[in-house]
Amino acid sequence: MTREQSKKCSENERSVGERMKFNTALLHQNFDGEKSTGSTIMPIYQVSAFAHETAEKLEKVFHNQAPGFAYTRISNPTVDAFEKRVAAMENGIGAVSCSSGMTAVTMALLNILHAGDEVIAGSGLFGGTIDLFSDLKAFGITTRFAESITVEEIEPLINENTKVVFTELIGNPKLDVVDLKAVSELVHAHGIPLIIDSTTATPYLIHPFAYGADVVVHSSSKYINGGGNAISGVIVDSGNFHWDSSRYDGFEPYAKYGKFAYLAKLRNAIWRNVGGCLSPMNAFLNSVGLETLGLRMERLCDNALQLAQYLDSVDGVEVNYPALEKSPYYSLVQKQFGGKGGAILTLRAGSKEKAFCLINHLQFATNATNIGDVRTLVIHPASTIYAHSNEAQKQSAGVYEDLIRISVGIEDIEDLIEDFGQAIAKMQEEC
Ligand SMILES: *Cc1c(COP(=O)(O)O)cnc(C)c1O
Repeated sequence: MTREQSKKCSENERSVGERMKFNTALLHQNFDGEKSTGSTIMPIYQVSAFAHETAEKLEKVFHNQAPGFAYTRISNPTVDAFEKRVAAMENGIGAVSCSSGMTAVTMALLNILHAGDEVIAGSGLFGGTIDLFSDLKAFGITTRFAESITVEEIEPLINENTKVVFTELIGNPKLDVVDLKAVSELVHAHGIPLIIDSTTATPYLIHPFAYGADVVVHSSSKYINGGGNAISGVIVDSGNFHWDSSRYDGFEPYAKYGKFAYLAKLRNAIWRNVGGCLSPMNAFLNSVGLETLGLRMERLCDNALQLAQYLDSVDGVEVNYPALEKSPYYSLVQKQFGGKGGAILTLRAGSKEKAFCLINHLQFATNATNIGDVRTLVIHPASTIYAHSNEAQKQSAGVYEDLIRISVGIEDIEDLIEDFGQAIAKMQEEC
């Protein structure tokens, strides 16, 4: 083969994603509508079962020997289209979607864990995930929490039972940022995979696989959906981790799938049998949301930075946002996220009473427990999301009695600044 030919060949082999930029890829990568009808968006296949002409054909579909759909708990065209788009967006080899972000976190872990295994996790995790690790104790799975996920803090926690390190990239609401490259190098040196909850970072800020993450989960209820209209989760695999079946029980029958072993095991075992599938309607809503992820994140990150800078200039409140120059994570945000800090910031008001007073005076910002909506949302985490956590857990999750979490929306920044300004002024007068 001549040099010219081999160059041409390797160009053809390049994945579509490498030729397209982010916003183009969200629309066109791994998706070109539904060929049979010309439908530009994959329609909602709102059905439970798919009929086949012969018993032989259905047998093949059930045994993964023929393409096709059998039953929506296992797969569905609308759900499948969403999964392919998410896999492409994360540069993964495949994705499995779930009924919620919590199902995705649970399934991603239970696909590899057994009684006697240990997990290392960040203590600044989302409240539901911390609660889940408590639930897993009943099944013999122990979690060791690191105050933060750094090489120094996790290395002493690793032992022969450690089967996975799990963390969020930008802690919600601690807003601590993980140095993904450093941590993934350490865990891989110990033969351990790294599972990342990338909900708050989104693929707009980072493609975690390029930094060594092995599996990524999203609560797609948040930024991927974007409109706050459907609960869902998704698990994406890089295909890079070697699941040694002498260390990871149950992987033996899936070794024949090579780099698809993790996804094949998930689809054919715990995920399918627990039945936490995504509904076709919600997959559709997510696919539509996904298309504007880049546009929304651009606006959200700009709004968050401007609001953080404004709040930083106001007396009586203390703001935390990783892209502010005063943040200890500022340089990591520049290096890892290209300077973008995501769309969540937190505010300390001085006391619980003041925090409630501020929240109650906001006009545009809505008091609700969600993030990633187009609307600005605020919440007092200590009395809500962390209601089941003890004081020590709250402390290490960065959840203080006077803390307000702000999930910044796409409103005009002038209105947001004015709204927070007037609410802080009223708080200072009244409380
Ligand atoms: C919301 C959230 C979850 C849970 O997702 P649900 O869709 O609510 O089940 C998990 N991780 C993070 C970081 C979240 O923000």
